[in-house]
Order: sequence, then structure tokens, then C-alpha cells
Amino acid sequence: MKTLYRKFIIATLLILGISIIIAFILANWVYMTSTKGRIDRQNVIIAEEMASSLQQMHSTSHVSFVAYLDSVSKLGYQIYVLSESGEEFFFGEPFSKKNLPPEAMSVIKDKEIYHGMDLSNAGWMMMSHFSNQLDNTVGVPFTIADENFGLYLRPNNKLLFSDVHVIFAWFFVAVSIVSISGVIWFAKHLIKPITKLTEATREITRENFNFPLNIYRKDEIGQLAESFGIMQTQLQHNDEARKSFINNVSHDFQSPLMNIQGYAELLKTQKLDEEHLEYVEIIDQESKRLSNLTKQLLLLTSLDQKSYPMKLGVTRIDTQIKETVRRHQWRLEEKEIEISYQLPPSPIQADPELLMTVWDNLLTNAIKYNQNGGSIFIKITQNDDYTAIIFKDTGIGMTEEQASKVFERFYRVDAARKKDGTGLGLSIVKHIIELHDGTIEVESEIQMGTSFTIKLPIEKQTEE
Ligand code: ADP
Repeated sequence: MKTLYRKFIIATLLILGISIIIAFILANWVYMTSTKGRIDRQNVIIAEEMASSLQQMHSTSHVSFVAYLDSVSKLGYQIYVLSESGEEFFFGEPFSKKNLPPEAMSVIKDKEIYHGMDLSNAGWMMMSHFSNQLDNTVGVPFTIADENFGLYLRPNNKLLFSDVHVIFAWFFVAVSIVSISGVIWFAKHLIKPITKLTEATREITRENFNFPLNIYRKDEIGQLAESFGIMQTQLQHNDEARKSFINNVSHDFQSPLMNIQGYAELLKTQKLDEEHLEYVEIIDQESKRLSNLTKQLLLLTSLDQKSYPMKLGVTRIDTQIKETVRRHQWRLEEKEIEISYQLPPSPIQADPELLMTVWDNLLTNAIKYNQNGGSIFIKITQNDDYTAIIFKDTGIGMTEEQASKVFERFYRVDAARKKDGTGLGLSIVKHIIELHDGTIEVESEIQMGTSFTIKLPIEKQTEE
């Protein structure tokens, strides 16, 4: 969700930046097309007022205008006076560049007005307004004692930034800070419930339907949260209904199946001809498979509970595996499978009953999918991080694609050939290993054999 938050802030800053650029371009356009000319004309009027006062006040001597222009400059003007004979006078704030273009001379020669502020290119667009070069002035002629003068002036930049302007600048800074902080706060406020909804969705995939949302809003997000809450409750009901259905059906299947098995066993002891005996054998096998399937379904449903009550205790996996091999001895002998193992004492912290199911499933598969006269090798190794258990057989093997699906529920490579499978064994195994925070991997090669590697982490094993 961090990215959405970042995007929101970047978008706001971008919008702010773009609006400043657009506003600057518009302001420039207005300045260049009308404001600039108007400012020039206003200053020409002021300059003409000054020139006429000078002419009336000092009609005989030009030296005495110095005092007048000096005091006028203090009112906020930069002034330059040039006489016909080349005498120069500066008043007020000095100009940054004392450059006058040739056309400015026509003020003295031809008594024409110089519109330097309107023509000026001293700065980039609007910025020329702030340039205090001498060519960025307006010039008017005046005459004292038959000598022609040029009076060039422009308002003093420093006075543009009066106290009011400083207050406005602070006002602008404060508005920017408050609005950017406001946007950041608003983005957080908007995104927080979305983060919560994402978390709740994750919890649902873990079958936790009680994640509290605590979103009480009247906007669209509030509506989304409300619908999400309704969906959460509905999913919880469906999940409970599904589990209790499987539970009930599995339980209800068990007793008739036990009856069928019992009668099939009984029938086998009767004197039956070969054909009928085969039928009874099929009934026996199929009812065993169904009984196995319902047991596995029951186990899977209970493992599916979000907090399966694991009964952790010190479990000797080496002893458990040896016990499993002993229980399957007759089947090994029946298929003349040679079994060898390296099982050093390996006590781990685990649920013994669940782990027993794992070894039972892996060994049953290694026998079931083995060749007659094949072999099985079981090995336990330990390092600082985990205990690894390997079940390796020289059986029929699987292709890479088949091996990638063996942990899926009800997946069987060749359902027709092996009638006693359910396709649930390995998904139960994986579930149990994951409950122990472990991993299981399969490697297989067709007609060469298969090996399953389980890794159970040490942390799980050492904690009491
Ligand atoms: P099943 O009850 O069919 O054995 P499992 O979940 O235990 O169900 O196994 C799924 C499928 O994976 C099996 O049907 C089988 O085709 C394949 N399989 C499992 N173990 C082995 C193995 N050791 N060698 C070859 N194939 C195997």
C-alpha cells in the first residue's frame, strides 16, 4: 500500500508543479501583452511630471536640480540625468548596468520619449520587470537654461518588496505547507482502510474469517468495507457448512462400511466357488478403500481448521520410521522389496501421531509404486538449521509434470491402474509438514524411482 500512498503524494506535487508552471506562463502572457506597456506609460507620466517641475523650478541653473531629484529618488525611484554636453547625474539606488541603447539618445537630440521599460528584454519575460539596468527605464526630455537634458527613471525594485509583500510571501509559504501536509494526512486517511481490507483478504485465504475491520465511514470505502464484512460472514458460514458436511458424511459412511467389511470377511470364510470369492474380494477391497478415503477426508478437514490443536512432544522420528517399516514388513516381503536405512537417533519436537501418518503414507507409496524386487532407502541427516528425512525408492517413478502435481488433493497419476489409491495421502503429508513449519520436495524419474525430501526446522525441534 506504500506505493499507492507514494503515488498520491507524487501526483499532488506534480499537479502543484504543473499548476505553478501554467500560472507562470499565463501571468507572463498577461504581463507581456498588457501590464508591461501600462507600467511604461505610468512611469512616462511620472517622469514628465518631474521634468516639467524641473523646468519651472530651475529655469536658469541646472546645478540646483540635484537636491530636488535626490529627494524624489528617496520616494522610490532610480534616476539618471544626461545633459547635451555629456554631463551625467545618478540618484537613488545604483543601476546594475549603466547601458543605454542609441535610440535612448533621441530624448536629448529630438526631444522624443524613450520607452525602455516596454521594449526591455533585460530579463526572461516577466523577470525583466525586476531588472534594474539603465536601459530598463523610461526617458523624457527637459530643458534648463537652453540646455537639453534627458531624464531616465524606473521605480526602485527594493520598494516593490514592501512589508505587505513580505506578509503575502509568508502567507503563500504557510498555505503551501498546510495544504501539502493536508494532502499527506488525507492520503493516509484514505489509504489506511484499503490496507486493512488487503490484510483482511489475506486472513480469509488463511481461513480466518474474524479479522476485525473497524471501518465506520459513510463514503464508498465505507460501503466496500460493509460489503466485505457481509462477504466475510457468508464465507465463514459456507466454510463451516462445508466442513460439517464432510464431517457428517465421513462419519455416517464409516459404520455401514465397517458392516460391509465385516460381512465380506465372513463370506470369505464360507465355501464359495472361485468366481464368487473374487466378487467378495472386490467388495472387501472397495469398502476398505472407501473407508480409507473417509478417514483421510476427516483428517484433512480437521487439519484445515485454522488452529489445528497440535499435540507437540519429543518425538523420536528414527524409532517411528523403524516401527512403520516393521508394520509393513509383510507387504515388503510380499513384493520382495529390499529396505535399507540410516536412522541416527533423531528426537524432535513434533506431533507424534501426525508424523506417524507422514511416514506411513510415504512408505506405503514407496511400496505401492515400486517394482517387484525393487528397493527402498530411508535416511535421516541433521544440520544446524533442520533435520532432513529422505524416502527414496526404485519404483515406477513419474514425469516432471506428474511429480509437480502429487501434493494436490485427489491427484493420482494412474487412477485406473492402482485401484486402492485415493489421491489424498500426499496432500495430507504436505499439510502436516507445513503445520510443523517444514518443507517437502519430490524428485522423480520415470521407471527409475522417486525420492521425497522432508526438512523440519530446528527451531521447532528445540522449543519446549
Ligand atoms: P494415492 O492414494 O493415490 O497413493 P497419494 O496422494 O499418496 O495418493 O499420491 C498421489 C499420486 O502420486 C499417486 O496416485 C501416485 O501416482 C503418485 N506417487 C506417490 N508416491 C509415489 C512414488 N513413491 N512413486 C511413484 N509415484 C508416486
